This record gives sequence, structure tokens and C-alpha cells, in this order.
Amino acid sequence: MDKKTPLHALPASPRDFGFFVDGHWIEPGSRATVVRLSPAHDVPVTCITRCTKDDLDHAVTVAREAFADRRWSGLAGADRAAVLLKAAAGIRGRLDELSLLETLETGKPISQSRGEVEGAAAIYEYAAGAARALHGDTFNNLGDRVLGLVTREPIGVVGLITPWNFPFFILAERVPFILAAGCTIVAKPSEVTSATTLVMAEILANAGLPDGVFNVVTGSGSDIGQAMTEHAGIDMVSFTGSTEVGRRALLASAGNFKKLGLELGGKNPQIVFADADLDDAADGVVFGTCFNAGQCCVGGSRLVVERSIAADFEKLLAEKFSRIRVGDPLDPETQVGAIITSAQNDSILGHIAGGLKGGARLVCGGEAMNGKVGRFIQPTLFADVGRDMAIAREEIFGPVLTILPFDTFEEAVEIANDTIYGLAASIWTKNLDKALQAMRLVQAGRVWINTTISGGPELPIGGFKQSGSGRETGIYGVEEYTEVKSVHITLGKRDHWVS
Ligand code: NDP
Repeated sequence: MDKKTPLHALPASPRDFGFFVDGHWIEPGSRATVVRLSPAHDVPVTCITRCTKDDLDHAVTVAREAFADRRWSGLAGADRAAVLLKAAAGIRGRLDELSLLETLETGKPISQSRGEVEGAAAIYEYAAGAARALHGDTFNNLGDRVLGLVTREPIGVVGLITPWNFPFFILAERVPFILAAGCTIVAKPSEVTSATTLVMAEILANAGLPDGVFNVVTGSGSDIGQAMTEHAGIDMVSFTGSTEVGRRALLASAGNFKKLGLELGGKNPQIVFADADLDDAADGVVFGTCFNAGQCCVGGSRLVVERSIAADFEKLLAEKFSRIRVGDPLDPETQVGAIITSAQNDSILGHIAGGLKGGARLVCGGEAMNGKVGRFIQPTLFADVGRDMAIAREEIFGPVLTILPFDTFEEAVEIANDTIYGLAASIWTKNLDKALQAMRLVQAGRVWINTTISGGPELPIGGFKQSGSGRETGIYGVEEYTEVKSVHITLGKRDHWVS
């Protein structure tokens, strides 16, 4: 494809979506619908159904039946793997359609959407292997008359709640692992970005997934999402979103003690030591701040930098910030697209205003770039930031970086860990000892050394502290969706209790 040719024009009218239960589309009928406007163009792009609580009950019943009759969990791992591999091929076959929908609903650059959709297909391929690799354990050391087994069983019906920032990719970091474990699913995507999750249901059905194993209901989080976390027919909820709503999900799930996987927010440090390759580090820090317009849970939004190089590094960052291409996400050259909703836009600008009011020094950016249409915010850099200021502590979820200098290694680690979150951290140094010592001491579920926001499905993801609990992806990610059963087998005749 010629990179300079825009991939697609804007749609003339929004694409209508029903919802997907028991292997079939269900039309909205008399249900309310919501039209999604492209955040970058203000044109209607999709029309999404507001499912009712009865729709959710129906989807849960269908998923329960599909689990109970073992139409999926009873298959060999190899058969489940075959479906996941076909699903990966199905994703690749619809790459253009999925990428465009993702860009139109999220405002992210089309080149990024294409990368995420291709990456998602690769995750299904990885998880196909995991479906075959999942296994339990044996204890053959309990004496000649005893054999101990530990088996893994799928946990049951999983309610899957996903956010708007990486709708298709985050779905791929969950769905194939849940399916590899043998569970059935009722998914609820964010209401503003439901389209690609719905298309995925069709792709899975076409790949041979039995009816009722993957179902999608759409609607708002406070309505359908909340009902899902409370639902007694759901055995586990995988929730990805803010720490605040995660806490609500924890309380709501107590009714039937459902298991909860929580992937929540972050305020992730990027520690830059003076002996780092500063050009590499600056590029990584800028990428970690601005990727996905900063609407990224693992974005490195706190720069913890050695004081001796802080001034020079600040100049390097400002120069790189000024060269980022922000604009129309349908332009293949664009690096940073639009902000998802006007509420999110206001929240980011509010944080910037708060930083200015609190006395932080604005190095560059700081303003909205609103033209005739769409919402865009300049990549923004703050120095002279107090550690207690909101811009240094709260998750802004926009392209905003705060600089916090340090003098000693111990201080660097202390500042990095001075947060309620523990999702991710990046460490930049050429000194191996320092890198590994810092890696050991930072409290984060993911650590990058001399890189940031990278990885593949082999490595598990998840958070320390208030960034969540449980792990997704990798073999750990499949195991999360299983129950462990201990089996004690006596060989030969039993020693009788009653003499
Ligand atoms: P929210 O917590 O607002 O929403 C996340 C999901 O939960 C959406 O599907 C939303 O639906 C739904 N939801 C909203 N209210 C409820 C409720 N009461 N009960 C159940 N579900 C509900 O987060 P955002 O969508 O704003 O996403 C941004 C947040 O997600 C950031 O904090 C970010 O750090 C975090 N995140 C974490 C990731 C991780 O892996 N740790 C990855 C990506 C994001 P709807 O949108 O329809 O209202």
C-alpha cells in the first residue's frame, strides 16, 4: 500500500450495529441506540444498541448453557486452537475494515490501528498454542500407595469489560486466553468504541466457535457494566478500566464472590539516569508520553531524571515534542490523533490549567489544537513540578509529562514508587547493575529497560498496588481463567477406619 494514500474516506452515514448473542446478530428493534461521532472529524460513524438488563440476562443464560453442555470446554485443546488460528486469519482478512472502524471510533492514527489489528491477530495465534500447552501437575512423591494430581478446569462464564483506549487490542489480550482455558464469555465494550468487538464476534463465529461461547452486549458502563459485575450468573469478571470503577466492580462482585481480574490505572515513572543513551531515552520518553495521545494505561507520564542532566534532557524533549505529527488520524503520516471524548478533553485541559495555577513551569504545549472539527491537544511538558501536585500524582490520560529530578539512586527509586499505582516503569541507563537493581526495587507489574511500551503475548501484564490484581496474557493469562482441583488417589486397598 502506498503510505501516502489515505486509506479510506469518511463514511457517508453511520454503520448500524445490533448486538451478538448465541451466534447471531440481534437487531436493535425498539431499544435505544447511540450514535458515535468520530472524535477527529465530528461525523457520525457508528450506531450502537443500548441493550437492556433483560438482554444481559439472556446473554448470560446462553453463555451458561454453552458452558454447562461442554460444547467448548469439552473439546481437546487442539480443537480450540484450530478455531483460534482461524480467528487470527479472519482478523487479517478484515484488516482494513477493523482498522478503519477503530480509527473512526477512537481517533487514533490509522497506521497505529493497523498495527494493533495485526498485533491482535498474532495474539490469537499465540493463545492457540497456549490452549494446547495448558496443563496441571502430578505428585508422584506421596508414597507408593498415593498419586496426587492437580487439574485445571475452566472457571465458567466470564464477564469481560473493556475500555475505549485500545478496544480491539485489549480485547485480544483477553478473549483468546479465556477461550483457550475453555470458558464462555459475555463481553461489554466501552459504549463509545463497541464496533470492533462486535465484528470480532462475527469473526469468531465464522471461525467455527460454537454458538453461545462468545456473546457481546452493548450499552453504558453504569448500566450494563454495573449489572454485569453484580450478576449472579457470571463466575468471573475481567475488568479493564479506571481504578475508581475497578473499586466499584470489586464491591459489586461480592454478591456471589465472583473472581475478579482487575487491570487498572497507572502513573508510570520513566527513570532516566545520567549514563543513559540520552537520545534513545528522550525518544522513548516522548513516545511513552504521546503514544495514543497519552491515553495509555502504561504511558510513562512521570519523568524521574538525574538532576545533572535534567536541563539538557528537558531541551532534548522539547525539541522532539515539537516535531510530533498531531492531526487527522486518517492521514497515514499522523503520529498522534484525537482525544476520545469532550469529557476526557476537558479533564486533560483541567489538569494542565491546574499545573499552571500550581506554579509548574510549562516548557512546551499546554493548549488545545481545536480547529473547525475534532479535539486535539498539544504534547505538553511541565518542569519545576512539586511532587504533591495533581499533575505529578493523578492519572491525566493525555499527552502530558511532568519532570521530577533526583540526585541519588535511592531517591530515584523512592520517587518512582511514591504513587498509589504500580502498573509499569521504564529505566534508562547503560549500567547493567544499576538497571537490574532499579528493576528489582520498582513496584510495577511491567518493567522496561532501555525501552518502553513494548512486548508480546508471552509476557504477562498486570499491576501492583492500586493498578489491579491478576494477570492477563502469557500462560499466566490462561491460568487466571481456570480453577485448580486437587485429586488424591489411593492405589490398592484402603486402610480401614472402622476396625
Ligand atoms: P472506565 O473505568 O471509565 O471504563 C472502563 C470500562 O468500564 C468501560 O467499558 C466502561 O463502560 C465500563 N464501566 C463504567 N462504569 C462502570 C460500572 N459502574 N460498572 C462496570 N463497568 C463500568 O475507564 P475508561 O474507559 O475511561 O478507560 C481509561 C482507564 O482505564 C484509565 O484509568 C486506564 O489507566 C485504564 N486502563 C487500564 C489498562 C490496564 O491494562 N491496566 C488498559 C487500558 C486502560 P462505558 O465506557 O460504556 O461507560
